[in-house]
Amino acid sequence: MITLALSKGRIFEETLPLLAAAGITPLDDPDKSRKLIIGTNRDDVQLVIVRASDVPTYVEHGAADLGIAGSDVLQEHGGNRLYMPLDLQIARCRLMVAVAKGFDYNGSVQRGARLRVATKYTESARRHFAAKGVHVDLIKLYGSMELAPLVGLADAIVDLVSTGGTLKANSLEAVEHIYEVSSRLIVNQAAMKLRRNRLQPIIDAFASVTSAA
Ligand code: ATP
Ligand code: MG
Repeated sequence: MITLALSKGRIFEETLPLLAAAGITPLDDPDKSRKLIIGTNRDDVQLVIVRASDVPTYVEHGAADLGIAGSDVLQEHGGNRLYMPLDLQIARCRLMVAVAKGFDYNGSVQRGARLRVATKYTESARRHFAAKGVHVDLIKLYGSMELAPLVGLADAIVDLVSTGGTLKANSLEAVEHIYEVSSRLIVNQAAMKLRRNRLQPIIDAFASVTSAA
């Protein structure tokens, strides 16, 4: 059995055309079903549905042969024991620094003020501010980062932005770009050696749609 780990929601939706190119059709929709293991039209391929941030863990430990994970998740996880053959160019967005409208971010940085930064992306934020030589107190959150500056928990947030609609709805503005995000195909290193003849056709099929896009 070949097992592919992915998260439901946008990554599942955007992966469907890639699966189709590999001749794989899921038998259930994870956004409707409560099943965590989803069969496919192919007897030898199954999907496991996990939290986006858990995908690298399943693949690293060989519980899944393949996975699809955002580059944000991989930066945080430190995916150095994974083989990453493809940037799938799906679920694209950017990791940004944002503040409440009117907060003088550049002025604070220039004055050398210590910034309180709320984020789920502590590793990416730590690296970004260290590279700039800005002192920050990082506050780890697991969601709704946009709230933090509004209630005085933080001066700034580090979060994913696509259209900017959520920032705007909460009177926040992006002030700095950290990195571009898209999802990668990740492969267990041992599986890549031992089951290459089974995995390579799937990788090639994904590559054919990705480069055509
Ligand atoms: P959970 O909801 O379980 O806490 P999550 O919020 O990380 O996890 P998703 O919102 O499905 O789960 O995000 C999965 C991945 O999709 C992210 O890791 C990122 O790479 C990408 N992503 C997140 N938000 C956006 C967005 N607004 N536009 C495009 N891609 C996004
Ligand atoms: Mg989300």
